[in-house]
Amino acid sequence: AKNKKGEEIEGSGETQELLKEDKTMSEYDKIQISRKNLPVYAYREEFLSALKDHQVLILVGETGSGKTTQIPQYLHESGYTSYGKVACTQPRRVAAMSVAARVSVEMGVELGKEVGYSIRFEDCTCEGTKVQYMTDGMLLRSFLTEPDLKSFSALIIDEAHERTLHTDILFGLVKDIVRFRKDLKLIISSATLDAEKFSSYLDDAPIFMIPGRCHSVDILYTKQPEADYVDASVVTTLQIHVTQKIGSGDILIFLTGQEEIEQCAETLTARTKGLGSKIPELIICPIYANLPSDQQAKIFDKTPPNARKVVIATNIAETSLTIDGICYVIDSGFAKQTSYNPKTGMSSLVVTPISQAAANQRSGRAGRTAPGKCFRLFTAWSFKNELDENTVPEIQRTNMGNVVLQLKALGINDLLGFDFMDAPPAETLMRAFESLYALGALNDKGELTKLGRRMAEFPLEPMLSKTVIYSEKLNCTKEVLSMVSMLSIGASVFYVPKDKKVHAETARLNFARGGGGDQISLLRCYTRWEESEYSTQWCFENFVQVKSMRKARDIRDQLEGLCERVEIEPTSCGLDEFEPVLKCFTAGFFFNVAKLSRSGDYTTVKNRQTCYLHPSSVLAKDEVPAKWLAFFELSFTTKEFMRQCAPIKGEWMVELAPHYYSPDDIEEAKGKKLSKQRSRGR
Ligand code: ADP
Ligand code: MG
Repeated sequence: AKNKKGEEIEGSGETQELLKEDKTMSEYDKIQISRKNLPVYAYREEFLSALKDHQVLILVGETGSGKTTQIPQYLHESGYTSYGKVACTQPRRVAAMSVAARVSVEMGVELGKEVGYSIRFEDCTCEGTKVQYMTDGMLLRSFLTEPDLKSFSALIIDEAHERTLHTDILFGLVKDIVRFRKDLKLIISSATLDAEKFSSYLDDAPIFMIPGRCHSVDILYTKQPEADYVDASVVTTLQIHVTQKIGSGDILIFLTGQEEIEQCAETLTARTKGLGSKIPELIICPIYANLPSDQQAKIFDKTPPNARKVVIATNIAETSLTIDGICYVIDSGFAKQTSYNPKTGMSSLVVTPISQAAANQRSGRAGRTAPGKCFRLFTAWSFKNELDENTVPEIQRTNMGNVVLQLKALGINDLLGFDFMDAPPAETLMRAFESLYALGALNDKGELTKLGRRMAEFPLEPMLSKTVIYSEKLNCTKEVLSMVSMLSIGASVFYVPKDKKVHAETARLNFARGGGGDQISLLRCYTRWEESEYSTQWCFENFVQVKSMRKARDIRDQLEGLCERVEIEPTSCGLDEFEPVLKCFTAGFFFNVAKLSRSGDYTTVKNRQTCYLHPSSVLAKDEVPAKWLAFFELSFTTKEFMRQCAPIKGEWMVELAPHYYSPDDIEEAKGKKLSKQRSRGR
């Protein structure tokens, strides 16, 4: 490790003797001992003294060395919080919550007091909060309300190696802010060794290394490509469980998302049940972003003797969360990634092969406490030849609409001249400008309009904030807020118990009765729950997830508050007259309009992409398909599916998006389609 003059600043970090617990100790004392056993502890003093000498430090240490949980506490203990808060950003909500909870236990304080977290739609902090974990997106939003971040004395941009869009934008903003706030300390923390790039970007800030303690990991590949990696992961888990000694370590499986994880957990449960008492107990712990937090915490429970734990995770467990005791990793080789096509302006979540760097991070999870094994469910050839070396930073593969709007609201006008660590493709920036212009958030000079300024107040994608603000015009703000909140939960609202599939389906379709598609079904669902006075019993009877509904209510409360701030009256149009609500949706989502084609599928109007109604849409059951649809999102699994779809009228598009559609577009959509059909027929 060296600073710009080439001096070593890494200290001796004398090998520490591992401290031992004894049985008479309190939980709190045991935790203090485990804190002192973390690799980072040996470097505590050197780190703090380096931070005294340097305003900006790059901190590098392996996952699990204690960066996220300890460094903010060290800063707190050494007085940095006496004149401001210490912020520590995380790319993922789950990590922010889970780490804050852990640190509050370590400090022996109540979560939300001295230690808290803030994530979108959830602020668990108070006046006296000293250590604040937050998503990178939330710190970015803090710049809007407090451009000099004066309530903070130190910022830790954690998990910097993940290079999320928000983290990348933060780099540019914090680089600027440390120039005029000399009292503000900045730590960029990363789990990978390629820290030189961060250092040179931040004017050669010194790099502080914490050597890890890691054991060797045997890597095993499959001989043939796996057709079904979920099933393969189940089989591999059972093989490990049956053939490897109990007590030899727990298992960690990497899959891509909630559905796969649930499927894997179910299959494992069924198959272990089948084996009955012939095998030791297997404790199955799923972890993904939308899992309720009490269940998330389960992954950290100590495995009892005579049992084995298997954690089934998304790439949340790649670097953000460290689970002790893992000796076997099963890697599907895939992750869900947003993929954005600047040519069409469409983004979708796609299951994508991970990079070699990510695969190595994943296998490293097996060697934290003892030598381990990693089972890669792909071939060695594929690793060498098919996986990219590194993951492409999100900024280069995502829609920048929201970020551009926020930067504009911060008064940063020259985005092409913004100091990006890796600039986004010019085409992506142009797309963002165009779409914000079409939404009316920017004028033709690229300046923020009054509408754009109001839109930036909302922690929503621009298309959703436009939807909300448009409700002012059509006097249906209450309904639109309910709909938008339901769309923003990010988890499923309806649940289908296996033995009551038919009942659940009937209940769900009940909300669709009266028309209006998925958006209005969600609105009906929310309104009826509201009318039941937020009854849990009501949720139960209607096969609705009460947790999702409560989340929707929290989101709604916040959006209502923001509406008040930008002076939007809480008007209402009632449930029966839902046309204005769909018009508001279209005013925001006119990019996502598709027209029924002769063959019975849909084609997006502007860029003529073929897409399909998702089978979960209530419209999928309609005998007469809607001619025009506005959809909430595209997701690509086996093909491009439109999720959450509303039937709309073709003529609305010109009325609601005059910058984007001309009457010709609507007409042309008919004409072109016809000629295309004809030529295909030949
Ligand atoms: P890093 O940020 O360097 O990857 P962390 O600070 O996240 O490391 O983790 C340090 C240690 O704290 C790990 O050994 C991990 O197991 C433990 N830890 C983190 N969160 C929890 C939790 N919620 N419960 C129990 N242990 C935890
Ligand atoms: Mg960490």
